[in-house]
Amino acid sequence: MEKERDVVKRIAQLVRAGATLTSYTCPVCGTVLVKLKTGELYCANCERTVVLVKSDEEAQQAVEVVQLREVRRIVFDKILQLGRELEKLSASEMVDHLRSMSILLDIYEKLSKIQSSKV
Ligand SMILES: [Zn+2]
Repeated sequence: MEKERDVVKRIAQLVRAGATLTSYTCPVCGTVLVKLKTGELYCANCERTVVLVKSDEEAQQAVEVVQLREVRRIVFDKILQLGRELEKLSASEMVDHLRSMSILLDIYEKLSKIQSSKV
């Protein structure tokens, strides 16, 4: 119990010195982490800074989002390209073009949704 009170006291001291409480907990002991003015996360119980590593799954998701962003850019370019070509086409040729554009816009919209839900 003594030790626990010491930890609370140390956290209070750190906060007074400019650190902020976070919603993260120490992966070793479960104590609430404070964020030092340097930006580092610190466990007052272990008396050391803690680096929170994202899970493999989170890291993979971040990679996918970046890759999808590239696909979205390509789709967007194609939509613009098809749009520019419309003027030169006859009405019957336009139908195929517009169908392609419609499919691309669908994909673009879906990709945009994934981006906004994950970033
Ligand atoms: Zn700890």
